[in-house]
Amino acid sequence: MSLLLTGIAELTTNDPARADGHTDPGDGLLGIVRDAALVVSADGVIEWVGPVAEAPDADDRRDLGGRAVIPGFVDSHTHLVFAGDRSAEFAARMTGTPYDGGGIAVSVAATRAASDDELRALVAARVAEMRAQGTTTVEIKSGYGLTLEDELRSLRIARELTPHTTFLGAHVVPREYASDRAAYVDLVTGPMLAAVAADGATSLAESIDVFCEPHSAHAFDGDEARAVLEAGRAAGLALRVHGNQLGHGPGVRLACELGARSVDHCTFLDDADVEALAAARGTTVATLLPGVEFSTRSPYPDARHLIDAGVDVAIASDCNPGTCYSSSIPFAVALAVREMGMTPAEALHAATAVSARSLGLDRRIAPGQPAQLAVIDAPSHLHLAYRAGVPIVRALDV
Ligand SMILES: [Zn+2]
Repeated sequence: MSLLLTGIAELTTNDPARADGHTDPGDGLLGIVRDAALVVSADGVIEWVGPVAEAPDADDRRDLGGRAVIPGFVDSHTHLVFAGDRSAEFAARMTGTPYDGGGIAVSVAATRAASDDELRALVAARVAEMRAQGTTTVEIKSGYGLTLEDELRSLRIARELTPHTTFLGAHVVPREYASDRAAYVDLVTGPMLAAVAADGATSLAESIDVFCEPHSAHAFDGDEARAVLEAGRAAGLALRVHGNQLGHGPGVRLACELGARSVDHCTFLDDADVEALAAARGTTVATLLPGVEFSTRSPYPDARHLIDAGVDVAIASDCNPGTCYSSSIPFAVALAVREMGMTPAEALHAATAVSARSLGLDRRIAPGQPAQLAVIDAPSHLHLAYRAGVPIVRALDV
């Protein structure tokens, strides 16, 4: 049964060619159509998009009552496979204890101790929580196993919920390798990677990632990160990098040099980093994670400067037990607008079209695209940031 959706006060298509001629700020970027309709086929593919006055008939119809419809959020950076509770660490941080990456070991111990079924239930609940807030596509990283068996297990469980899985064996150096870092990098780039990427089509991971952060004793320096990324690329994986989170470092430039799909955090950048990101436009996305700065009480990255310099800017949640246990893209959108100088349109575009591109996806509402949609209980996308903290957006089941 095909379905005609009507009563759409404002439709964000992410297709500038569709903008309906209004001149409100952001209309062009978002390809906004007012008083819109769309038709979805029985197998969930968008068949038609346009003004309701021109809509074709369909087998069934649903009136959305004057709401806004947007592309479902694409959360391109999460660490959902973990067990344990680190709320006390958050409380300590709020009273002055700085973050240095050391708490990850707490999550590693709890994750290793959890059963498959416990981990599976935790991850599924987090994905459902995200969907209830408008996220229809999610990337999930490993990185709280840090043994061959536990990393494979994390990726297998993630794979049950999304094809966008990322091998993050190089999250931190686990305690048992603290006195021999090189042996751990060899394990990640050798046996672990070989098992993850066993043979192209059946690879457990789409991408490889590394926490490149010389300012943390637990993370990886530029040379170690390069070794991880080059090995991942040789194994056929796309590249992602955690870079320049805690201070200035080599992560951003390394990501641009190696053609990574995304370099994430980008909080501490110098002019050469910004130039490298602008030159890498179309290849490497700068993914900002403002929930992390919120949850660690740190300075926010300067999104305005990056956008004005011509950088592709995405936003994502970084949902993880240490630095940001928020799965909410609407919250990240509100922070991006309030704290990082993005317009509401730029923030929505960053959390849909640009984050999608960093996963090799196209997130437009256009004929032929899968109907990955979200609906807002409000007449326009402006309400996402305007009504921060109010649960007005959710994935739309069609
Ligand atoms: Zn992360």
